[in-house]
Amino acid sequence: MAERHISRRQFGRLFSVEASVVEINYGVPHLAACRDCWIEATEVVASLRDTKNLPRFSDSRDAVVTLMEAEEDRIARSLRSKGWWAGLKDATLGEQKEKINEVAAVQTGEVFETIIHQAQILARRDPFAAERSAMTAHLLVDKLSDIQFPPPVKNAFRLSAMTVVANSRRLAANWPGAFEAVSRARTYLTPQQMVSVEGANLISVHASLVCDTGLLEEAEILLYQAAGIYRGAGDFVGVAKIGVKEADAILASGRPEEALMKARDVLAIMPPGCARLEMFARNIATESLVGLGRLSEALRSYGRAKPLNEQFGGEVDLLKFEYLEAKILDALGDARESEKLFRSAIHGLTEAEIYRSAFIARLALFESLFKRAAFGKAARLCEEAIGLLQKTKRIHAQMSQVWKDLLVAVKTQALEEYHLSVMKDYLIRHWTSPATNAPVFTAKPKPD
Ligand SMILES: [Zn+2]
Repeated sequence: MAERHISRRQFGRLFSVEASVVEINYGVPHLAACRDCWIEATEVVASLRDTKNLPRFSDSRDAVVTLMEAEEDRIARSLRSKGWWAGLKDATLGEQKEKINEVAAVQTGEVFETIIHQAQILARRDPFAAERSAMTAHLLVDKLSDIQFPPPVKNAFRLSAMTVVANSRRLAANWPGAFEAVSRARTYLTPQQMVSVEGANLISVHASLVCDTGLLEEAEILLYQAAGIYRGAGDFVGVAKIGVKEADAILASGRPEEALMKARDVLAIMPPGCARLEMFARNIATESLVGLGRLSEALRSYGRAKPLNEQFGGEVDLLKFEYLEAKILDALGDARESEKLFRSAIHGLTEAEIYRSAFIARLALFESLFKRAAFGKAARLCEEAIGLLQKTKRIHAQMSQVWKDLLVAVKTQALEEYHLSVMKDYLIRHWTSPATNAPVFTAKPKPD
C-alpha cells in the first residue's frame, strides 16, 4: 500500500499529548523518509515551540524534535558566521589573516563555508575580490581544530578553496594563474575525493579553463568525467551545469546540430530553480539553430530565452545576448539593424575587457560585412581590431599578425568565404597561445 502524506492538522495532533500509538507508529517513520512531510512538520513544530505549546515526549517523537533543533542550530550558526564575515570581507588580506589567527569565533567550519559560498557568488561580479576571499578561507583551514576536522575533512576544504581560486582567476582571464591553482587543488585530491562532488567541482572548473583556452576536445573529456561523478552523487544541478558546459564546448568546436541536441537534453532534465542554467541552455540552442539556418525555430527559442536573460542575466551575459540578437538579425537578412547591435555588443564587451568574446563578435560582424560586399567597412573593422590588439598587449603577437593578414586579404580581394571559418576556429582555439601554423588567407589552388 502506498504511503499517504500527513496533513498540517494531523501534524498538530501528532506533536500533542493526544496522539495515539497508531498515529506515532505511522507518522514518525513516514516523516523520516518523506522530505515534503518533514518540511511541513518542521514548520508545525517550530510554531508549537514559539507559542510554548510543544510538550516533552518520551517516545520516538523526542528524536524527531532533537533533530529539528539541530537543524535550526545549524542555520543559526551559519547566520552568525555570515555576520563575522560581513565585518571582515572588505578588510585587507593582512587584517583578515590577523583576525583568523586571533579570534576563536572565526575559527569554525561554518565561517569557512560562508566565505566559500560568498566567494562563489562574488566570482562572477568581482573575480579579484572572490580570489582574495577564497585565499583567506584556505588560510582559515589551518586554524580549524584537528579533532573536529580530521585531515581528510581539511583536505576537502582546501580543495574547495583552491577550486574557487582557480575559477576566479579564470574569470579574470588570468590563465597561467588559473592553471597553477588547478595544479595546487589537485594536490588535495585523494582517491576518494577524486569521485566526490568536491572533486567534480574541480574537474568542472578545469574543463571551463581548457575550454576558454581553446582545448575543446580536452574539455569534453573532463566534462564527461565530472558528469558521471555528479550523476553518481545524485547532484542533478551539477549534472545540468555540466550539460550546459558540454553543449557550449560542442558549439564552439563548430558542431551546431550536436550542440542543439545536447542543449535540448539538458533542458529536458533541468531541475526546478535553475533559471540561469536554463537561460544558458536556451541561448546555446538559439545560437545552434541560427548556425543550422533553422530561423523560425531560432526565433521561437530566442522568444523563450529573452525574459530569462532580462531577469537573470548579469552585465556580461546581457552583452553576449546582444551579440546573439545581432546574429539572429543578420541571419534574417536585416543588415542595418544587426550591424548596430553587433557594434553595441562589441563596444560593451571591449569596455568590460571580455576580449575573447569581443573579438568573436568582431569576426561575426566582419563576416556579415564581407558577405554583403561591404569591403571598406570590413577593412576598417580589421584596422580597429589591430589597433586594439596592439594597445592591450595582453594577447600574443601572432593574433595581431593574423588580423593584419586578414586585412591584406580583404583589401586585395583574396579573401574567400571558407577563410572565415578557419579564422573563427583560430580565434577560439588560439586566443591564449599562438598556433604552430597560423591561418593563411590565400586562394586554394585550383585542382588540375
Ligand atoms: Zn509525506
